[in-house]
Order: sequence, then structure tokens, then C-alpha cells
Amino acid sequence: MALRETYEMYKSRQDAIKNGPKAHFWVNQEKRYVKPFKIYGNLYYVGDDWVCSHLVDTGDGLLLFDGGNCGASAMLVQAIWEAGFNPADVRWLIASHGHMDHIGAANFFRRMFGTKLFLGAPDARMFRERPELSMIQESPNCMDALFAPDVEIQDGDVMRFGNTEIQFYLVPGHTEGCIACFFDVKEGEETKRAGYYGGFGFNTLQEEYLKEIGDTDFTMRRRYLESLKKVRDEKVDIFMGNHTANNDLMAKRAYMQEHPGENPFLDGEAWGTYLDRRRDELLSTFCVFPKE
Ligand SMILES: [Zn+2]
Repeated sequence: MALRETYEMYKSRQDAIKNGPKAHFWVNQEKRYVKPFKIYGNLYYVGDDWVCSHLVDTGDGLLLFDGGNCGASAMLVQAIWEAGFNPADVRWLIASHGHMDHIGAANFFRRMFGTKLFLGAPDARMFRERPELSMIQESPNCMDALFAPDVEIQDGDVMRFGNTEIQFYLVPGHTEGCIACFFDVKEGEETKRAGYYGGFGFNTLQEEYLKEIGDTDFTMRRRYLESLKKVRDEKVDIFMGNHTANNDLMAKRAYMQEHPGENPFLDGEAWGTYLDRRRDELLSTFCVFPKE
């Protein structure tokens, strides 16, 4: 193939991404870099100002929640270093769900450091059978790829990572394989319970989308509500979002910097309040039958 022709292929893909409706998610991601910080005890924030990644120092290796945005592996590596850790010590990476903005660095970590990849079983099936639903095709990096996880997470699983035991649930809604998980974080003698909910977006509940995936009765909206209900009353002292908007992460970070000694992430109400808010928003946005 002529050089000019291959260049034109490259250029048309670049232009399609840069001029596409979601360009702001992909272009100049470096501008979204956030200096990493400790949330509490052995829990750190290493994500950007839009999509979250959290790091847990388990005492026997590092555990990552989510692998960053597609095309942003270098930012995640830098954040882990800047937080005071070596990315090579990341032994496990747990994906909140199988969308491209949460798995950017997954393959890189596996190949570079031997990191084990965890994903909800239904989203592992989605990667095999409906890979287009991961939206990987929107990645700004044509070498980004899906993966077969080392561990497919099932509803009710309990797993140990170093000193950290995690309770997992499947919370289908945003995707079929979204996970919620709960675990203790420790600061000195004090223990707090962290809760992670793996996907709140309504973009996958829209009529057009559900029809395209074959959910013509819109059952996913009802399943989303059931998932919120299932984990609503878990005890959570630290609500971890998977996008920063979920828990006002950037505002809390700023508050923490201005008020040393105070920690707005410690909030026993935030989890329940936000899950209730999503329930109310869902019910006022969509028709869900039978009516709540
Ligand atoms: Zn998503």
C-alpha cells in the first residue's frame, strides 16, 4: 500500500475522533490530570478529573479500581508514581464495568507488570459476544483492546487481596456486568467501610440504545432500580464514585486542601443519598413498569 494511502487512513481516523461528538473525552486528556491524593488510610485517588481510578495499598501489593480512560495509560502510571507507589506493584485491577473509559490501561498493566484483571462475568461475556457495546471503537488509541479477564466476578463473591477482603455484588443497569463492592480501609487503629458502585450513567437506558441491543421491553431500567435497592442499605463511610461527578470528588479534594485535618470523604450519608437520587432521577426520566 502506498505511503500516502496509509497516511490518509490514519488522518481520517484522527479527524473522525477529533471532530466527533465525544472529542472532548479523548483530546488533550493531559489537561484532566489530577495530582493524586490520599482519600483515607490506605485508599488513594489516582484518576483524572472526569473518570476515577482508586488505589488500595493492601500491604502485599497494590489493588487498582478501574484502569483509566482509553488512551490515558501514561497518566495513570504517572499518578501512581506521584502517589508514592511503583506501578509495577499493581497486582490486581478490578474494572467497575466494561466500558472503554474504565479499562484504558488494563492490557498495558497485564503485559507490563503481570497484573491480574477482574471484570463482572456478564461484561466478560459482552466482550466476547457484543464487543461493540464496550465502545472500544471510540478509543483515540487504535492499539487499545478488550481482554479476557483472569477472574470473572460473580454476584456474592468475597475475595481477599493482601490485607483487604472485598464483598462483591453484580448491579446490572448501566451495563449488565456492573459491580458494587465493599471493603474496609484502615488509618491507624481506625477502620472505615468504603463502597464502590460500578456505573450510574443513563446513556445506556435510552430508548434508542435499548432497542439496538434487543431490550425492547426496556427491562434494563427496572434492573437498574433493583440494583440500587439491593445495595442501598450497605454501611458505607466512604462513597467512591467511578466518575468524579458521582461524589463531588473535585470539590471534596479542594475542601480537604483548604481545611487540613478535615475529611469530607468520611460521610455516612453520601452513599444512600446518591443512590436515592439516581432512583428518583431514573423514575422521573423514564417510564418504568410496573410503576414504583
Ligand atoms: Zn460506562
